[in-house]
Amino acid sequence: GCSATDIAEALRSAAAVIDEHRDELVELDREIGDGDHGENMKRGFTAVLSTLDTAVPDTPGAVLKVAATTLISKVGGAAGPLYGTAFLRAATALGDRSELDAADVATALRAALEGVQARGKAEQGDKTMVDALVPAVAAVEAAKGGSVAEVLAAAADAADEGARSTVDLVARKGRASYLGERSAGHLDPGARSTALLVRSFAEAAK
Ligand code: ADP
Ligand code: MG
Ligand code: MG
Repeated sequence: GCSATDIAEALRSAAAVIDEHRDELVELDREIGDGDHGENMKRGFTAVLSTLDTAVPDTPGAVLKVAATTLISKVGGAAGPLYGTAFLRAATALGDRSELDAADVATALRAALEGVQARGKAEQGDKTMVDALVPAVAAVEAAKGGSVAEVLAAAADAADEGARSTVDLVARKGRASYLGERSAGHLDPGARSTALLVRSFAEAAK
């Protein structure tokens, strides 16, 4: 099972991973955007850390909801509202369940993807975080019989591969789309940060 405390721990590990990869995300965003993605994400997850230091809510959904609210107010840019919506939809989908199993992980991740797409209107292939999330959701749903750690490990591998697939794509959404064909040949920063987040959750679940 996976409790509110476990979710808080997973978010703390996500914050550490984002901190470690801040410069990489800045560099990726410098190539096809405005160079702030690493700093945006670091600011947001640092704020999540302080929120969790104040108090950890008593259900996984409530923990994800405070993370969502914090990310919406602190990340900024395109990614802030998108990640905020993702965490908020996941929180809502979980309701007041107190212990999550692998099926709950599938429900939460599917809801997160639907939130990102409702908000940003990106489809798979548009060179965004959606390209990391779609395969992650598919992998979790395919591995549903496994443990939380197993389904998240499968999701992390799929998200990595999905993020790598953005290199060859031409951006059709977000700031990178202003570059047209010149956006090809670069890894999408938001797809990379999504893959890092899913990997950090998988590591935390081990
Ligand atoms: P900004 O582009 O406003 O500076 P960030 O640099 O923080 O915001 O985030 C950029 C990332 O946001 C992109 O790499 C992409 O993955 C994601 N993104 C941008 N627009 C969309 C969208 N409409 N749908 C999904 N993801 C998007
Ligand atoms: Mg940017
Ligand atoms: Mg920006």
